[in-house]
Amino acid sequence: MSNKSLGLSDRLYHYLLSVSLREPEILKQLRQETATMPNCNMQIAPEQGQFMALLVQLLGAQKALEIGVFTGYSSLAVALALPPGGKLIACDIREDYTAIARRYWQAAGVAYKIDLRLAPALETLDALLAADHAGTFDFVFIDADKENYAAYYERSLALIHSGGLIAIDNVLWDGAVADPAVQDAATVAIRDFNQKLYQDERVRLSMVPIADGLTLVMKP
Ligand code: SAM
Ligand code: CA
Repeated sequence: MSNKSLGLSDRLYHYLLSVSLREPEILKQLRQETATMPNCNMQIAPEQGQFMALLVQLLGAQKALEIGVFTGYSSLAVALALPPGGKLIACDIREDYTAIARRYWQAAGVAYKIDLRLAPALETLDALLAADHAGTFDFVFIDADKENYAAYYERSLALIHSGGLIAIDNVLWDGAVADPAVQDAATVAIRDFNQKLYQDERVRLSMVPIADGLTLVMKP
C-alpha cells in the first residue's frame, strides 16, 4: 500500500505541496506521530485529506461515514470540515490504532462529532441499515480491507441519499492493478472492484489520480 502521489516526480510533488497544502497543525502532528509506526504508509496523503475536506464542505455534508480509521488522519480531516452539528460514524477493528485517533480527535476539539464503532465494518454497516439509516448519509470514505471493498460499496450506496458521495481509496494500488502479473488477493479485489464500478450504471463516477487513486461515486 502506498500513500504517495503516483506518477509525479518528487520535484513536482513538492512544488504542488508548496503552493497548495494548508495542513492544520494538529493534522501535521498526527502525521509526524504516525510516521514512527511500521504501517505509517496506510495513512492518506495530506493533500488528499485537504481534498476530502473540500468535498465535504462542497457537499454541505452533515452526516459522514468512514470505513477504516487507523490513527485517524482522514477522520480528523473530515470531522474538522463538518459543521458543529455534524456527525461522523467511524469504523475500525483495532483498539490500539484508534486510541491514537481518539487522542487527536480530543486535542482538535472534534471528538464530540465522532462516533467510533469498534467492530468488523460489515457488521456496523448492516446495523446502520437495520436501524433505518438508509438514504441518510452525505459522504462515505471507504479505506479498510480491500477484499471487502465491493461489500462496503453496496452497503454505502444504500446508506447515502441521492446526491451523496462515496470516495474509495487506493484504487490505483501503487500501480499493481495495471500489472496482470500481480495476482494477490487485495490487488485482484481492487482490480475487479474498479471494473465492476465502471459498469455500474446506477452511479456517476470519476477516478481521481490523487495519492494512491481515489474514485468518487455520486448517487444521482
Ligand atoms: N483512513 C486511514 C487514515 O487516513 O489514516 C487509514 C485506514 S487503514 C488503510 C485501514 C484500516 O482498516 C486499519 O486501521 C484496519 O484496522 C481497518 N480494518 C481492517 N479490516 C477491517 C474490518 N473488517 N472492519 C473495520 N476496519 C477494518
Ligand atoms: Ca488508504
